[in-house]
Amino acid sequence: MFSWLLLGCNSYELTISPKRVPDTYSNTINLEFSGASSGFSGTGATLQIGGHDLLLRPVHDKLSVEIPKLAVGSYPISIDGEFSAAVLEVYSAEMIVEFIDVGQGDAILIITPKGMSVLIDAGPPESGDAVLRRLEAHHIDQLDLLILSHTDADHLGGIPEIMVGLDGVAGSGDDISFKQVLHDGWLDFRTTAIARRVNALLKDGAITSTFADPRGLDVSLQILASGGATVDQVASNEALSHANARSIVGLLCLESFCGLLGGDITGGGMGTPDIETAISQRLQPLAWVKVPHHGSRSSSNRSLVNATKPRLAVFSLGDDNPFCHPTPEVVERWAETALLLSTGAGQSGRGSCAASEWPANSGQSCGTIVLRKGAAPQASVSCGDQVLSF
Ligand SMILES: [Zn+2]
Repeated sequence: MFSWLLLGCNSYELTISPKRVPDTYSNTINLEFSGASSGFSGTGATLQIGGHDLLLRPVHDKLSVEIPKLAVGSYPISIDGEFSAAVLEVYSAEMIVEFIDVGQGDAILIITPKGMSVLIDAGPPESGDAVLRRLEAHHIDQLDLLILSHTDADHLGGIPEIMVGLDGVAGSGDDISFKQVLHDGWLDFRTTAIARRVNALLKDGAITSTFADPRGLDVSLQILASGGATVDQVASNEALSHANARSIVGLLCLESFCGLLGGDITGGGMGTPDIETAISQRLQPLAWVKVPHHGSRSSSNRSLVNATKPRLAVFSLGDDNPFCHPTPEVVERWAETALLLSTGAGQSGRGSCAASEWPANSGQSCGTIVLRKGAAPQASVSCGDQVLSF
């Protein structure tokens, strides 16, 4: 797609890239002028789009312009007041976060407005299938980023299954691959059997592993803690020797709509290392939180709950799990500000655990929970057939 632009007696070919942008935020557009008879480069010219008058700026060897957030539609582009045939298409986009029902464990799939994909964990062994079904539903055969929150089997167990795809055969066409893998720095160590297995499989695929902030996504994903400490601190020996305390904790934001990916991070309960308090010092109130460690009393300390004050708290856990998750006081703490949704029902009170007491009209057992946030101020979250705004 190009246009011939008439400026005085000169004509130029204008090419824009990308030609389609999402409506969820501002976008950088690159412009190229070619065929100019008088050496016109575009530098210093202004671009008009959707009522905005924007100065073109050279960035490296390209001309770029930051286009403010626009509503869905087609926008003709003018340069210095002259219409061109170049048109920018603005499409309706949203970020999707799926808390996949994997029983007792975590598996979270993020699809960005531009269609990039991030998977955080894949649940316990035997749950890879549930994760693969969700990847298939989104036509994903390669993930832009895989995050392995920590080395426990209820998070890594499904990874070998997703690497071989639904047919269970390595090297066949339905295998899932990853462009980038982020882990807590402990995959290489003799931690758990599943960590050793996943590490060996990833090495076969020549995957590089780091635990810095991932780059290149069109949402912001900031790593707040990993390997037993927040990013600017040194982990204590106590934290280094505790798998949950080493969890990666991420802050996911689509502009100012932010949520906490809590992994199994610990907050001092049950004698665990307290990483949550240091994380809390970096947080403002958030839209949502994936409750750390399945609602265990090891986690969700008062600092974290008070700092985040989320409108939605998601519990990822199984029915009648042997760990008695979620703990009633943790449920009460998050219920102070949040709607509570849960992938599984928690405790029925049949075994040695007390029954889960969810607050009235909250704490619903949903199966897979799907959160959506587009350009509208409100986000939505589905629980079974119900769709709720928050
Ligand atoms: Zn866990």
